[in-house]
Formats: sequence, structure tokens, C-alpha cells
Amino acid sequence: MAFDPLIQNLLKQVSKDEMAKHVQNLCKFTRVSGTEDEEKAVEYIVSTLKKCGVKTDVYEFDSLISQPKQARVDLIYPTLKSFKSITHPFSLTTPEEGVVTELLYVGKGSEEDYNIKNVRGKIVLTDGNASPDKVWLAQNYGVIGQIFISNENVPHEMIITTVWGTPSIKTSFRIPRIYVASVPHEDGEILKLGTSKGKVIVRLYTQTNTTWAKLRIPVATIEGKEEPERFVLIGGHLDSWYVGATDNATGNASCLEIARVLNENKEKLRRSVKIAWWVGHSQGRYSGSTYFVDKEWDNLNSNCISYINIDSPGSKGATVYLLEAMPEAMDFSEEVARTLTGIQVERLKPGRWGDQSFWGIGVPSIDCYSMAPVETRANVGGSGGGWWWHTPYDTEEYVDTEYLVRDTEVNLAIALTLINSKVLPFKLSANAERYLEELLNLKDKDSEYLVDYDDLIRKAGELKSELLKLENSLNSVEEEKVKEVNDTLIRLSRILNPTLFTAAGRYEQDPAVDQPYLPMLNYVLKKDTLGKDNYQFLKVTLRREGNRVSDTLLEAIKVTDECLRKISK
Ligand SMILES: [Zn+2]
Repeated sequence: MAFDPLIQNLLKQVSKDEMAKHVQNLCKFTRVSGTEDEEKAVEYIVSTLKKCGVKTDVYEFDSLISQPKQARVDLIYPTLKSFKSITHPFSLTTPEEGVVTELLYVGKGSEEDYNIKNVRGKIVLTDGNASPDKVWLAQNYGVIGQIFISNENVPHEMIITTVWGTPSIKTSFRIPRIYVASVPHEDGEILKLGTSKGKVIVRLYTQTNTTWAKLRIPVATIEGKEEPERFVLIGGHLDSWYVGATDNATGNASCLEIARVLNENKEKLRRSVKIAWWVGHSQGRYSGSTYFVDKEWDNLNSNCISYINIDSPGSKGATVYLLEAMPEAMDFSEEVARTLTGIQVERLKPGRWGDQSFWGIGVPSIDCYSMAPVETRANVGGSGGGWWWHTPYDTEEYVDTEYLVRDTEVNLAIALTLINSKVLPFKLSANAERYLEELLNLKDKDSEYLVDYDDLIRKAGELKSELLKLENSLNSVEEEKVKEVNDTLIRLSRILNPTLFTAAGRYEQDPAVDQPYLPMLNYVLKKDTLGKDNYQFLKVTLRREGNRVSDTLLEAIKVTDECLRKISK
């Protein structure tokens, strides 16, 4: 792949010094959501964009924010000992004297770990960083509290609600109702040893401030010349833990620099770009990007070509790339990153994290981020895999400005490919292929054949072959038919991605818990672990999900065939 001269030219304009200055300035603020410092960061973004002459809108909304305040874990039987600990956003606050009860160790806190113990009314001790799915499970087993043993000796700040975005009437029942804390790894091991020897009683004290806050999201718009209504959306979270140098001041700087370069070259852009600095990410579980989806649903649905997430670029030691992208966007994104940097790119299924709030609409998302190689990578979810992620130690000393330039260029090149390609660089046959693979796998594993897999496999196969036909004809598509083709590619993303990636569908958000492709159909793999009633409930769900997949595939075939007919005329 050779980059066109325009892309090469724009990449050369990315300034290391500009970004270093932004990182330094943003690190003056402890950008916790709902605080004055976050608002100062918003002001910094808005004033910087203004100086560059970039059109900027600010979206204000009400967000349920939860800030952790204090926590303590006291061992009170069989010996006395106090442990430093932290609590997490959306933990309940205990009474001032804390809560006292028995501590039970439940391994990693997964479903099978609970089958052996009666944990009702107890506090459970769990291996690993605090996570929303484990808290949800513990709560469902009737525990009153949960203590996590951090992977490192500095506990990582983690939000523990499974509710994606500000809760709605449909999702508010999932707001956590237990007390949650994390202790450093070494202390957790002491507690664990105690539970292996006999009865252990602890006092757990947690304090969070969970409240409504008015938050503001800056969004820049740079209009393209030929199709101004169509846009690429680029975003990264502005709020952070502590000063969050590598998560995500570097990402904010990257977005500012992309805005500057694109704005200075807007005469050369075919389509538009919007760039957002999300707030409510770390303490509001992606409430900013979720609000933006709700507010701009129609526009995103009709006109957004792709969402590019920029989180934690330019971290020290981050020498490999991971690419989480929807199937249609995978090939070209990988090619751009690899061609530009010579670095191998590992392809992954998009995870249910990091402002991936656009799956319901079906907007293809792209998240190409640099990480330390596996050998040196800590068990963390950002900061390029550095142990300092989500701790007070995430400061400028861990920023590598050369890598920040490299990562910014990768995202800018991906964005420009989407902005300026005449025919959008999507390969929807990869989405059909994903349906096919998933269905074949489920058929293979479900001996009871609870879904008419053969019928769905036939439809997915037909869709794939029609899409291959369409893709093969795109090299020679006539100028006046380009719009028809692009409309179709966007329409197909909207049809295929919601069913492939979500349970909740197009207007709601799934919980912040990782899930497989075709999430509801995949429940069939759990059928042997369910009781009699649940097994029957599952059969109802599978009938409906089978219909959903069938309807999705038929609609996609129809849209593809219509396009083929029109462009071959
Ligand atoms: Zn982040």
C-alpha cells in the first residue's frame, strides 16, 4: 500500500512539540469527572481549538458520577491488622463504623467459584483487579461486600458498575448495591492465607460520593468539501484518574493535533470529521460518549462513517499494535498501521470498554493502540500496558513523545483514508464471514440443534457471496454510482453490526461486560449449566434470536442485491 501524497504531506505536519505542550498543560489538572479540574481541562480544549480557528460545539448533560473517597480493610479475627485500600466508583458507602462480617475467598470470583460456598451476607475476597462483571455476580449471590486483590502492589482505580452510560429506566436496576474495595497484591495475599487456615472476620469501610453533575463535552467539526454531511468521528476520554498522563492526556493531545492539522488542510478534505473529548468516562462509565449517541442518534445513523477511539497513545515501551475493529474496517486499518510503522498488528474482537458506545447504531469502530509486548506488559487495560495505569504514578515521565507522534500519525492516516477515499474502504464480506464462522461453531457445539443453524448458515453464505460480487465490482465503479455504493456500505454496517455485536439492539446500551459475537445466540453454549426453568427460557430466547439473525441476513442480502443491480445497469 502506498499512501497518497496528500496523506504523506499531512502526516509530516504532525508536531511533537505541540503535543508535548498539550500533555504538559493537561497534566496540571486532576481530571476526575464532575470536578473543577475536569472543567478546566474542557476550557483548555475549547480555547486551544478556538485559537486554531476550529469550529467547536460544547454539549452539556446530566451525568451520574461516582468519585471514590476513602476505604479501609481491618482484619479483626484471628489477629488485628489494618490494610490500606481504595474503593471504587459506584461502590456503596458503608456506615461510619464500617461493616463487620466473615471474609470468604472465592478465587477469581467467577460463577463456578460460588457454587461451593454460601456467601450470603458475607464479604468475598477475589483475585484480580476490580471488575464490573465480578461485582455484579457477587451481588447476585447475596454478598454484602467484595475485596479485590490487585494484580500489582499499587491498586488500580476501576469503576465497578455494569451500567453503560448514565443509567436509564431500563438499566438502573444494575447500579451496584454492595461495598467494594481493592487492596495491594501483597496485603491481599496475607488475607488469602488467613482464609485458607480458618475463619477470618474483617471490618470493611468504604466511602464514595455518587451524585449528579453537569458535564460538558467539547466536539470539534471540520467540514469537508465534497460530502460535508458525511463524517468520521474521532474521540478519546478527557477525564482521567489523577493526572493521567498516558491515560489519556496523550490521547487528548493527539486529538488536538489531528484537529489542528485537518483544519489547516480542510480545503483538501472530501468528507468531514468530528473530534470529541469525552467526559464521564472513568467515573461515569462512558456517560459522555453515550450521551452523544443519544443526542446525535439520527445524524450518526445517517452520516457517521466510522468511530476512531484514541486512548493511551504514546506510552513508554509500547512497541506493538493491537487493533480492535469491526470486521469491515479491520483489513484497511491494519494495512495503514503496518505500512506506516512496519510494526506487526494483532487483530482482536472489539472489547466492551473504552467509549465503544456506537455498536447499537452499527457504526464501524476502530481502535488501533500501541502496547508493550506481552513479555513486559502489566495485566492492565491502558497506558500501553504500563503498571502505572490508573494510579497516581501515571505522570509525564511515562510519556514517549516519539511514540506519541507515531501513534497520532497512524490514527490520522486511518482517518484520512476514510475521509478521502472515493469508495469507502470497507469490506463487508468480512462481516458476513464472521456470521458464518459463528454459526458454524454454534451448530458444531449444540448437539440439540436448538436453532435452525443450517438455514442461517445458508443465508450467511449467500450474503457473503453477494458481498464478494459487490466488492469485486468496486474497482471499476462509475463516478455517478459511487454515492450509491457508499450509501449501501454504510447501510450494511447499520444492518449487520447491531445483531453481530449487541444484545440490547439499536437504541439501548449493553452492560459493560465483555460478550461474544451474536451475544444472545451464544447463550446456547451455557445450556447444560442451566436449571429446568432457565433451559426453557433459553429456548424462547433462541427462537427470537434466530429470527433476529435471519431477518438481519435477509435484509442485508436485499440491500446488497439492489446495489448490485443499480451499479451494473
Ligand atoms: Zn483510558
